[in-house]
Amino acid sequence: MEKAYIDWSTLGFSYVKTDKRYISRWKDGKWDEGALVDDNTITISEASTVFHYGQSCFEGMKAYTAKDGRVLLFRPDENAKRMVQSCRRVMMSEFPVDRFIEACKQVVKANLKYLPPYGSGASLYLRPYLIGVGDNLGVRPAPEYIFSIFCVPVGAYFKGGLAPVNFTISDFDRAAPNGTGAAKVGGNYAGSLLSHEKAVKKGFADCIYLDPATHTKIEEVGAANFFGITHDEKFITPKSPSILPSITKYSLLHVAKEYLGLKTEERDVHVDKLAEFKEAGACGTAAVISPIGGIENKGNLQVFHSETEVGPITRKLYDTLTGIQYGDIVGPEGWVVEVDL
Ligand SMILES: *Cc1c(COP(=O)(O)O)cnc(C)c1O
Repeated sequence: MEKAYIDWSTLGFSYVKTDKRYISRWKDGKWDEGALVDDNTITISEASTVFHYGQSCFEGMKAYTAKDGRVLLFRPDENAKRMVQSCRRVMMSEFPVDRFIEACKQVVKANLKYLPPYGSGASLYLRPYLIGVGDNLGVRPAPEYIFSIFCVPVGAYFKGGLAPVNFTISDFDRAAPNGTGAAKVGGNYAGSLLSHEKAVKKGFADCIYLDPATHTKIEEVGAANFFGITHDEKFITPKSPSILPSITKYSLLHVAKEYLGLKTEERDVHVDKLAEFKEAGACGTAAVISPIGGIENKGNLQVFHSETEVGPITRKLYDTLTGIQYGDIVGPEGWVVEVDL
């Protein structure tokens, strides 16, 4: 199969138009049969709820080429289920889980020439999204919806291998205690742009958000979840109803316990007790793991393993999970879903 003329090694994380995207429309109480289309633009009513009231949600996931040429998706059922939860939170019509997975497979298969080869470190990023459309004026759920998935080839997050970065604690909140933090809905991300910008201007990779009720506990690292490794080698990750439930995080919890033999805990992580950790990281689909060099809080930088080198447990977690994703290591039942070519 012909590959597109792309230098996989220099790819970043930027939009490029690929050949086909999947689109399905909900109207009069049901989804249409859906189709792959060439057009990467959508024309919708100026009165769509997505524009005014942020009635929207999205997902992010990756397809990989295995060593033997198989094409693999990583836990697409989890993305499908999370999108259902996001839809419920902002009162949008849900797209069925089985159709979501089938649509992902169709999009990958129709854009195989953009799927990076095994060993390149690159992958094919899938962006499913669902938006409220149709004529509407008042604050209420939309009369119609669009579900779509497009894909973009993306490069390895760390070109020179895993490298730690520093983060700073934000004064802003990304979520309210009983708000929409656990849903991957559009408005959460508009609200994070300013705090991200401020962190970058201070020289940090991104900001860390504390729990919105007491501002004493870590919730998220930018748009990624947090984990830390204690001095007695427990894998710890925060638990809170306003954290977005990262599929990477839940996969790492399993890998830490079942593949690395670590004890694991989901519990509060107090920002004034960061010295309990000898390693820390941010996790999410984009980078899988970003090792955290240090965290700045009120002028003090708490350094974990090192500001320049990734810690040994973080590296093992990364190697094991990415090994499963690329099909080099046998994963738990159902984690890796093959796309029939
Ligand atoms: C998407 C996202 C994550 C990571 O979730 P994954 O399923 O691991 O990609 C973490 N935090 C936020 C706020 C997110 O939007």
